[in-house]
Parts: sequence; structure tokens; C-alpha cells
Amino acid sequence: MHSTEKPLDAAGLIRQTGLKCTPARVQVLELLLSQQEVLSADEVFEKLRQLGATLNFSTVYRILENFTEKKLTEKVLLPQSRKYGFLVYTFSHTHHLICLGCHKVVNLDGCPLHGFEEEMAKKNHFQIVGHALELYGYCEECQKKGLPR
Ligand SMILES: [Zn+2]
Ligand SMILES: [Zn+2]
Repeated sequence: MHSTEKPLDAAGLIRQTGLKCTPARVQVLELLLSQQEVLSADEVFEKLRQLGATLNFSTVYRILENFTEKKLTEKVLLPQSRKYGFLVYTFSHTHHLICLGCHKVVNLDGCPLHGFEEEMAKKNHFQIVGHALELYGYCEECQKKGLPR
């Protein structure tokens, strides 16, 4: 999982999770692997259709949910549209900067919550198993375009 040499082969990644490797799942994952941005389920569906896929929306949605359960994708809230977006899980613990204009994602180095998490666990007698942190804003290009309006 931590090898950087491993090729991002959609079928291989799906098999690693124990999910059955169906052509539909491969299509969805290949699309996500080729993207540098968060896509909502609608956008995944639309892009696949443009590529000639014949999946229906509920199939695409179910596949994205399956992938998320298996930690193949991450589901993040896009606050502006109040929709969920999906992106490929990076196999290492990362947080993201997400542009609300173009949905570009920048991976942040390291985790600012590392010490905080332990502190909160102790203080609240809570067994913490994970956290989510996304930062939202506008990338340089979108700022130049005059977003946000
Ligand atoms: Zn942007
Ligand atoms: Zn973190």
C-alpha cells in the first residue's frame, strides 16, 4: 500500500479491496484516476457517458459508495453545491485544499491534527479512529477569473 512504484491500475486496485472487478467498476475508477479534481456522482456519470459508457446513474452512484466503503475513494462535501464529490483515496493520510470554482484538489503535506487528536482522545476518553478535514477556497486561476463573485 505504501509503495510509490505500484502502477495505478484500476482493475488491480479494485481486486485489492476484495470487490468483484466488473467492467463498470473499472470504468468508474479509471475515470477518477485520470482526474485531478473532485467529481460529483452526476459529473462522473456525465463524463462516462461522454466516453461512451452505458451505465445508468444509480449504478454509478452505487459503485462510488462501494468504493468509498472500501477506502478506494473519498467522499467530501462540496459546500457550495451541497453535493458530495468523490476522489481517489491517496493511500496515505492526506488533507486537501479544494477549489470551489473549478474543484481542483491540492493535497496538503502532513496532518495538522496529529497531536490535537491524541489530546482530544485523552481529554474526552474517546477512542478516536479517524478524522476528516478539508479546506475550501479558490485557487489562483479562479481568483484571477474573478471568483468568488
Ligand atoms: Zn479553481
Ligand atoms: Zn489528519
